[in-house]
Amino acid sequence: MSLTPYALFRAEVVRTRQLTPHLRRITFGGPELADMVSAGLDQRIKLFFPLPGQDEPVVPRGENWYGEYRAMAEHERPFMRTYTIRHFRPAERELDVDIVLHGDTGPGSTWAGRATAGDRVAILAPDARHTPIVGYECKPPADTDWMLLAGDDTALPAITAIVESLPAGRGALVFLEVDSLAEMTPMDSAADVRLTWLSRGGRPAVGSADKAGLLRETIARTAFPDGKPYAWLAGESSAITDLRRHLVNERGVDKELIYFSGYWLLGSPIE
Ligand SMILES: Cc1cc2nc3c(=O)[nH]c(=O)nc-3n(C[C@H](O)[C@H](O)[C@H](O)COP(=O)(O)OP(=O)(O)OC[C@H]3O[C@@H](n4cnc5c(N)ncnc54)[C@H](O)[C@@H]3O)c2cc1C
Repeated sequence: MSLTPYALFRAEVVRTRQLTPHLRRITFGGPELADMVSAGLDQRIKLFFPLPGQDEPVVPRGENWYGEYRAMAEHERPFMRTYTIRHFRPAERELDVDIVLHGDTGPGSTWAGRATAGDRVAILAPDARHTPIVGYECKPPADTDWMLLAGDDTALPAITAIVESLPAGRGALVFLEVDSLAEMTPMDSAADVRLTWLSRGGRPAVGSADKAGLLRETIARTAFPDGKPYAWLAGESSAITDLRRHLVNERGVDKELIYFSGYWLLGSPIE
């Protein structure tokens, strides 16, 4: 039995597919993925990218890997970024990660834009030998009447996976803010889903106390169904904080019934 819920797995790119102008699916595979597991939904993982000149990232593998990683010399320490498992196929030892290409402004986006079969990474992901599975947050209470799912391009993989998992009869309002409507991707569900795509027309995804972001602006105009909601919100940090504030202060949604996460922060790298 593994003692830690997460483990480091070495993997390589098996294939890539451009899903939309700004979203690239990277499929990873390798024998080590036999010990990986995913809860589905918004399962988060960390990817480690090799530095220029390296064939694969140098990553400490022990239980105290994070302390050792932090202590590594800068010329050796790989970039680490957080992503979502979009699909996991244990029988094939493969996983798909859908990565937003936001230009050559960060190591994750830069790497994903250039990735080709054979490129090597390390992945911090749940270890199949540990129970329970950790690293996912979408946990609506059993008496939830309807769900509100809202996010931007970076939350699209998680929201799509959540929507696909919803049972028949479950009502869900889904709001996705994307760079342009060319970013729309198919979303299947047995549930009663009302999906709204919002285009930023190329502008950054932000909100603030003075100027509402597109998500908050649109959701503020939306009538909510009766009953107990559960809200899941992720995307640019200030836009999501702003949206949560609207739900709590202006729509009376109980804080306990809202999961929210700043998946990225305009102007700053986030590991
Ligand atoms: C739990 C979790 C799950 C996530 N899942 C996914 C996922 O499945 N797919 C995915 O693509 N991202 C996902 N993200 C977001 C991703 O980790 C960030 O976008 C991250 O900043 C990307 O790293 P980078 O190296 O490309 O850019 P960074 O080096 O972090 O940032 C460099 C610059 O780019 C800007 N930037 C970062 N992301 C974006 C963006 N999306 N659009 C515009 N500008 C940006 C920053 O503001 C900064 O100025 C997730 C984040 C979290 C916390």
